[in-house]
Amino acid sequence: MNIKNYLSDKQWKHFYSESKKYKTPFVLVSKQIINDNFNKIKTNFPYAQVYTAIKANPCVDGIEVLNKLGSNFDIATIYELDMLLKLKVNPSRMSFGNTIKKKEDVAYAYKKGVRLFVSDSISDLENIAKYAPKSKVFFRILVDGSATAEWPLSLKFGADVQVVEELIYKAKALKLIPVGISFHVGSQQNDVNTWDKAIGRVSALFNKVAKNGIVLNLLNMGGGFPAHYIKTPHLLQEYAKNINVSLNKYFGNNIPTIILEPGRSLFGNAGVLVSEVILISKKTKTTKDKWLYVDSGIFNGLIETLGESIKYPLYVPNRKGKDSKEFIIAGPTCDSADIMYKDFRNPLPKDIKIGDRIFWLSTGAYTSSYASVNFNSFPPIKTYFI
Ligand SMILES: *Cc1c(COP(=O)(O)O)cnc(C)c1O
Repeated sequence: MNIKNYLSDKQWKHFYSESKKYKTPFVLVSKQIINDNFNKIKTNFPYAQVYTAIKANPCVDGIEVLNKLGSNFDIATIYELDMLLKLKVNPSRMSFGNTIKKKEDVAYAYKKGVRLFVSDSISDLENIAKYAPKSKVFFRILVDGSATAEWPLSLKFGADVQVVEELIYKAKALKLIPVGISFHVGSQQNDVNTWDKAIGRVSALFNKVAKNGIVLNLLNMGGGFPAHYIKTPHLLQEYAKNINVSLNKYFGNNIPTIILEPGRSLFGNAGVLVSEVILISKKTKTTKDKWLYVDSGIFNGLIETLGESIKYPLYVPNRKGKDSKEFIIAGPTCDSADIMYKDFRNPLPKDIKIGDRIFWLSTGAYTSSYASVNFNSFPPIKTYFI
């Protein structure tokens, strides 16, 4: 493992020196890297409005950085809304981007000033019409992409274009303002071409409803841009280039307002999760496999290793041994599901010892807030910002 593929010397030294202050397990998140990631997204998509997907890392420190940089925000819940209000973010910079919401939460968001909502069902749309009258609504369509996304998102959310077309007319009838379409191609989307078909679908739908007198002018392309895990992802430039081509192909010189909702690509490489090796053991006399147990696991920050989906790069400072694939890596709880990597052998230095610290790189997104509260009575994993 070459740490230089992931962090600059300066970044690594900063993480490492700060990490010495804390007891494991914990997540350290760099505000500077979040800042740089935001700027990188703006540079690659200069025409887009960025709505940070708060759920990827709902911590005040990081959100403050993004607020100062002028980000808008995609909120999943009224709790994220409250956090933003405390930071004095104007509700005009928020989008209620969860298709699944209680009517009282729609009412609450409306009362606080939110006027932009997503929907993908008739019942939800009726709630919005009733509890957030005359609001702007965009509609989530189902798109392909699950096969090439490491954390798919396109099954539970969205409806097919025929259903969405009906919702658009219904919105108008309910005196809402239908403004556009959204999709999410799946998180950690490795295929840069996935957006093309989705954008084509949106364009066709725009044309269809235009014939019935409804002009849509918003295309919310969600997230999906990658963080750098074990596999080196395509560069963001590569995604931007392909998406540009598709926008021009389908919309010509009539490109709608574009929204992006980055989560993983904003926060992922801004964080490192630090855990300690508790035990290393063998289950039989003859096996080469070693079980390596650490003090963070599926229930404590590493839930995206479920099904061995997200493959985090692991770094053990000060061990010079050759990379070895003999380790099965598991967490500390009394639950057999708490195994991060068994089939996938995430390499660790051969000479790793009990008590060593493992740095799980690119763990700034979907880790600490995605952990259990106190399973086995372990306290929830802490996040510190640097
Ligand atoms: C989770 C989520 C995102 C963020 O996706 P990433 O792949 O992490 O960038 C964006 N939009 C919506 C609606 C989401 O639910």
